[in-house]
Amino acid sequence: MLGKLGKSLAKTMKKLAGMTIVDEEVVKEVIKDIQRALIQADVNIKLVFKLSKSIEERALNEEPPKGVTPKEHIIRIVYEEMVKLVGETPKPLKIDKKPYKILFIGLQGSGKTTTIGKLSRHLQKKGLNTAIVCTDTWRPAAFDQLKQLTQEINIPVYGEPENKNPLEIANKGLEKFKDYDVIIFDTAGRHKEEKHLLEEMEQLSTAIKPDETILVIDGTIGQQAKEQARAFSQSTPVGSIIVTKLDGSAKGGGALSAVAETGAPIKFIGTGEKLEDFEVFDPERFISRLLG
Ligand code: GDP
Repeated sequence: MLGKLGKSLAKTMKKLAGMTIVDEEVVKEVIKDIQRALIQADVNIKLVFKLSKSIEERALNEEPPKGVTPKEHIIRIVYEEMVKLVGETPKPLKIDKKPYKILFIGLQGSGKTTTIGKLSRHLQKKGLNTAIVCTDTWRPAAFDQLKQLTQEINIPVYGEPENKNPLEIANKGLEKFKDYDVIIFDTAGRHKEEKHLLEEMEQLSTAIKPDETILVIDGTIGQQAKEQARAFSQSTPVGSIIVTKLDGSAKGGGALSAVAETGAPIKFIGTGEKLEDFEVFDPERFISRLLG
């Protein structure tokens, strides 16, 4: 399990190599290396310090279990503490009622619409009858974009580009697709003022009563993720997070602030513009990427 992490901690590993007892100085050095990597990956500085503190405390106070070398012990602690930051082991979406209603929220440009296409494909492949409702009245092109994305895979999309009332569209969509297994709701990502956008999310959430609310965070935005997550989670409780655009050089460390802010785990990541560029979140891989 720790092989990938070991590789990304290659430099640090050298320092640990010959260690026979847990040496305070070496632990401090290892932590410095980790801090450097995480700050470069855009992880929020407070989170980095919180993490460092818990790693240091555990590394210096916990006895390595029998048969475990100090080196293995420290790597395991680093891994466990980082997993706490990103959300424990992968949590798949559990579709446990019908229709299962998923509300998507996120700023314009975050990749929300594309991600809805990807998730609908993912669920369809699992044999779930999935439909999409587009309530974005601010960007009428979103409806066409959704239809275009999903036309090859035969997923129905309901929208009314002329209608300016998102609640009305949501309610009609709910009625139309009530026999489907899953209904995904796309929402606006921008308003004249952020306050109005957030109010609209709150109203939609009250009307739809989603079984899951997913916040989409652009993996390349770095430190701004914290504020975005805070704003959205104040208007609508966030159940999970999808981080997009992890196909580029960004390491997605900013998204960790969104996890810390909302307490919601990352469930999927986006790795490209196509429908298939979508993966179930793998904490170990994500952590290795952050440290590598
Ligand atoms: P929305 O405004 O949040 O609905 O965002 P869109 O779905 O329209 O996406 C904005 C842009 O980001 C589009 O050009 C998408 O093709 C692109 N995009 C979305 N997800 C990803 C991803 O995972 N990787 C890459 N490289 N581009 C993405």
